[in-house]
Amino acid sequence: MKIVQTPVGHMEVFCYLVYDEESREGILIDPAGDDERLLVLLAEHGVKLRFIVNTHGHPDHTCGNDRLKKTTGAQVVMHALDDAFFQQPEFKGWSKMLGVDSASPADVRVQDGDELTFGKISMKFIHTPGHTPGACCILIDGNLFTGDTLFVGAVGRTDLPGASLHQLIESLKTKIITLPPETIVWPGHDYGETPQSTVGHEMETNPYITDFLDDNA
Ligand SMILES: [Zn+2]
Ligand SMILES: [Zn+2]
Repeated sequence: MKIVQTPVGHMEVFCYLVYDEESREGILIDPAGDDERLLVLLAEHGVKLRFIVNTHGHPDHTCGNDRLKKTTGAQVVMHALDDAFFQQPEFKGWSKMLGVDSASPADVRVQDGDELTFGKISMKFIHTPGHTPGACCILIDGNLFTGDTLFVGAVGRTDLPGASLHQLIESLKTKIITLPPETIVWPGHDYGETPQSTVGHEMETNPYITDFLDDNA
């Protein structure tokens, strides 16, 4: 399995190309801009794109969906709750405000625990609400793609509509720190000292985990 991390768009979202080196089938996680460069990246690695996966429904993460789907024929995958939430008319205005395209409904709506495969690789969707109602972390063979749920040393905003700090802390507690400590954390933005981390390192150093969770441990 190969993972390529690359920042895209003017919101500096971390996009990930993950693919099976044998079959060359792959996915893009949050391909939120710079589509031309992403298409070149796919061609360079000889990847046939199977899925466009969104960690959550915020327009700065979903704005590239439609264009990339049109060019590659890949299916767009998102948690059912965020797909419904961000199709509401009031959120279409957000995209305009952010200066990005709004996304069409997903082709595949997933729930907590669902798995999808590409080549010989299986990805599992872990529903981690808090940053958005349908935010997910995606687990692929010891790699956790956390979107805006967990950053290196921080967590995503919880002051936007549909967000809840209480829920986010609950998600960290029940869904993330329960994973093996060596699990690699691949965040949705480069806000930390390093572009990646591990669950164990975040448990020791991330104030949202050490301060909020240790009290009730
Ligand atoms: Zn977000
Ligand atoms: Zn974001």
